[in-house]
Amino acid sequence: MVASLIKLLFPARCACCGAVAGGSDVCVRCKEKITYINPPVCELCGSELKRCGCKNRKYAFDRAVSAMVYEGAVRNGIRRFKFEGKVAAGRFFADEMLRVISREYGDVKFGLLLAVPMSKLSLKRRGYNHCDILCGHISKKTGIEFDRRALTKLRESRQQHTLSWRERMTNLSGVFRADSKKVAGKTVLLADDIMTTGATLSECARAIKNAGAKEVFCVSAAMTELNRIN
Ligand SMILES: [Zn+2]
Ligand SMILES: [Zn+2]
Repeated sequence: MVASLIKLLFPARCACCGAVAGGSDVCVRCKEKITYINPPVCELCGSELKRCGCKNRKYAFDRAVSAMVYEGAVRNGIRRFKFEGKVAAGRFFADEMLRVISREYGDVKFGLLLAVPMSKLSLKRRGYNHCDILCGHISKKTGIEFDRRALTKLRESRQQHTLSWRERMTNLSGVFRADSKKVAGKTVLLADDIMTTGATLSECARAIKNAGAKEVFCVSAAMTELNRIN
């Protein structure tokens, strides 16, 4: 009774556009505009094999997987979640990440879950790290311990949208630090909302491995098709 009253008063909103979604996470119109990344996927970057663009790249992580392509409704939803305070949408994106984690990493025993961190300044400006929210959901459903302090961003880096892969790597060099007391010897699951070139995830993975982690596997809700960026 109370639950149905709450539903009536606060109907579930679409995680992508905010319209009333009639009992599902995403409305029918947005659902049609989601491109899922379907297996078989590249064993390194997680793109669908026919779209893989990672051949000339060296990553510090062992593997990355993503649930959806970053375009259309998904892009809209992630922007709202990240920049407009629509934190409730995080559950939908976390559920998509959980789906791909169990499909692709079913055999991996993770000892620790980490989120791609924000600098103190950005965190202060935005008020929340959206990746922490994703990790909160993932940890709750998988039981993997989430530590929001074990990986930190030491300083602000330049905005990356206009940078090439090489420029991104230079831009991020030495920006992240992991706490060896927390990560040494562990198999780490590292989460981000979007994988664009993989440079951020790779630099985070490098810091985590420098602190003694055994392996680093990445997961993101959405990815840009890698072969679109040089
Ligand atoms: Zn919608
Ligand atoms: Zn690839």
